[in-house]
Amino acid sequence: MAGEYQQQYQQFQRDPGQFWLEQSKRIPWFKEPSAPYQYDDNDFYHWFADGQLNTCYLALDQHVEAGYGDQTALIYDSPVTNTKQQYTYGELQTQVAKFAGLMQSLGVSKGDRVIIYMPMIPQAVIGMLACARLGAIHSVVFGGFAPHELAVRIDDAKPKLVLTASCGVEINHVIEYKPLLDEALENAQHTVEHCIVFQREQAIAEMQDGRDIDWQSASDAASSVDAVPVAGDDPLYILYTSGTTGTPKGVVRENGGHAVAMHYSMETVYGMKPGEIFWAASDIGWVVGHSYIVYAPLIYRCATVLYEGKPIRTPDASAFWRVVEDYKVTALFSAPTAFRAIKKEDPTAEGFKQYDTSSLKRLFLAGERLDPPTYEWLKDNTGLPVLDHWWQTETGGILIAPQTGAIPLKPGSATKPFYGIKPCLVDKDGKEIKGAGEGRLCISQSWPGQMRTVYGDHQRFIDTYFSQFDGKYFTGDGCRRDKDGYYWITGRVDDVIIVSGHNLGTAEIESAFVAHPKVAEAAVVGYPHDIKGNGLYCYV
Ligand code: AMP
Repeated sequence: MAGEYQQQYQQFQRDPGQFWLEQSKRIPWFKEPSAPYQYDDNDFYHWFADGQLNTCYLALDQHVEAGYGDQTALIYDSPVTNTKQQYTYGELQTQVAKFAGLMQSLGVSKGDRVIIYMPMIPQAVIGMLACARLGAIHSVVFGGFAPHELAVRIDDAKPKLVLTASCGVEINHVIEYKPLLDEALENAQHTVEHCIVFQREQAIAEMQDGRDIDWQSASDAASSVDAVPVAGDDPLYILYTSGTTGTPKGVVRENGGHAVAMHYSMETVYGMKPGEIFWAASDIGWVVGHSYIVYAPLIYRCATVLYEGKPIRTPDASAFWRVVEDYKVTALFSAPTAFRAIKKEDPTAEGFKQYDTSSLKRLFLAGERLDPPTYEWLKDNTGLPVLDHWWQTETGGILIAPQTGAIPLKPGSATKPFYGIKPCLVDKDGKEIKGAGEGRLCISQSWPGQMRTVYGDHQRFIDTYFSQFDGKYFTGDGCRRDKDGYYWITGRVDDVIIVSGHNLGTAEIESAFVAHPKVAEAAVVGYPHDIKGNGLYCYV
């Protein structure tokens, strides 16, 4: 397997464009791209720009047409509402096609923006896929955001429609979303024509005449529409990510490169086979939810789990393992913080022993540094391969990963670059570091799935990501490369605190705290210190 990795990686190095063009043949296009990318006037890559496809077609219709309409596509498990529900590919296609018809009847077409402000319910997935079906651009706003944050995003994206639900359901309380949305719409400068509201029985929202539309009845009455062909470089979605300064950045993702990256990663990073069950225990409001709850598993014809619960307290720290048993989950992906919470409540992993988890083949972690104690705890208690992998909202898919079994693991490292990715380390003056060393992590060549621009502010895209280091994409992360070519993310470069002239990575100190059996989480921040320049405050 290690040899295979080397061989594939070298094949990519020889001709990156050809390598990706080959991978693009894994998905059905309405019109195949003739070239891997085109450059725009600023020399930015537009992946598979002259191809024509539709991401919703890839996620649903192609499987139904191939005879897999009865296969499970979406598994909804909600311990907070005691609901379990499953949709086959055929059922999901029917609902999405009708909902897209409803949006079309309200004037939504290719290129229009739609904000989705919803809890973790199937309708959120239906809304996303329906946008993709019309070539409209969705922007999912995490349900935890307050009216001000929502208003900022509404003013930036200028959506025609907002999709919402009457409420979100937490462990012991209900959060009414509709009043939050109403307040956001009142405060926003931009006027939204319509809101489509999914009424949940836990709270019935008040509707505004002429503006608000009942999701269920309007969708039932709508006519189905087919998937609209879009160009490879037409946008699929905008996802806002916090900037270190200023307003959030709208990360714009294109259809073609994203679809190719999603499909390819399911096989090579996650080692999945079509028909298996994939569970990303995250939220659709984040990139993990976009890529690995919705798009990648469906494009690859896996069943995906949408879990409206927590790692602990729904009802206890065995919750994840219960879900694994119930649906025979093949691979589980979550953030280290979820497992640290589980470990704190259930240090000897009794929950894991309590359930039949024999279907589970691999655990994946990302989103923050996987500290070695959490890695060891998971490995020792589950006996499963524990695979760290690194990526970002901006990257769309995975950039550094062990490729299921291909690369021997080193706890604390996400291992080596994914096929088709060219990372490089630079020092603070922008000089490239060769071989072993530590510096700022950049990517020296574009890849499919890379963000296209910052929505409405291309200059900010250039300034934030490409101006520091000679046109290379700057990730914002610090990283060490060891003599074997493994990459070790040391944390955000802005999370380094200089104490008495020494650079201290907060991630390293935090992981020292969480190595203690009684500690679930730790956070370290700097404060001004008369003698040392900075001191450390440690929240444990
Ligand atoms: P986000 O865009 O919110 O997904 O956050 C991306 C950031 O999370 C990266 O820039 C890293 O700082 C951090 N991150 C993601 N995956 C890992 C990982 N496997 N190891 C260390 N840090 C990670």
